[in-house]
Amino acid sequence: MSDEDAEKQAALEEAGRLLFAKECRFITGAVSMESLPPMGAPEIAFAGRSNVGKSSLINALTGRNHLARASNTPGRTQQINFFDLDQRLTLVDLPGYGYAEAPKDQIARWTAFVNDYLRGRQSLRRACVLIDSRHGLKENDLEVMTMLDKAAVPYQIVLTKADKIKPSALNSLTTKILDDIKRRPAAFPQIIATSSEAGLGIAQLRAALTALTKEEEDSR
Ligand code: GDP
Repeated sequence: MSDEDAEKQAALEEAGRLLFAKECRFITGAVSMESLPPMGAPEIAFAGRSNVGKSSLINALTGRNHLARASNTPGRTQQINFFDLDQRLTLVDLPGYGYAEAPKDQIARWTAFVNDYLRGRQSLRRACVLIDSRHGLKENDLEVMTMLDKAAVPYQIVLTKADKIKPSALNSLTTKILDDIKRRPAAFPQIIATSSEAGLGIAQLRAALTALTKEEEDSR
């Protein structure tokens, strides 16, 4: 990274720190297209297999301990949860997928609802597809990425639990995933490795998401 790029990145990380230090408020849990909240600030959706560390990551980003916990309680797992961050960004917690024991009709409902949301939401700017560093891309991650490609929603791979594997393994996983996503039209060619536990990559992810709000605000 050149000195100039490093300076830009540091400024963006500082802007990200400030934005994510603002109050983050639960707006609503939507169970159908009719119950989605009105569109407002740019939306960032978080998708991932259940247990990937999605709640932990949203909590680490916002510096809250329990913000995204509601999404994990049984019965609320099929909701799309919306969180307002200072009216500048809306964080969208999509229901986790890939429960081994989930009934087929529940999976079909999840897919239909999430698909409708992804295709129809004009305020949706990016999806973060969370991948467990220990497991890499699984079949259902690929299905979700295909859904995003078809819906033309730009998405970014975010590795979770990076503290669980060696830096060398993290490097080869990143290289492999970058190669796997090369031909996917909506995939963003940059991967952020995070650990909610160790605080790794959190500032970088905040900066990447804050850059989206800046682009938006500058274009107004
Ligand atoms: P969700 O189902 O995707 O919302 O996943 P959770 O955030 O509830 O996390 C699932 C499990 O992974 C929990 O036991 C967490 O403590 C653990 N976990 C989440 N993030 C990390 C991380 O960065 N490092 C490690 N080592 N464990 C994590």
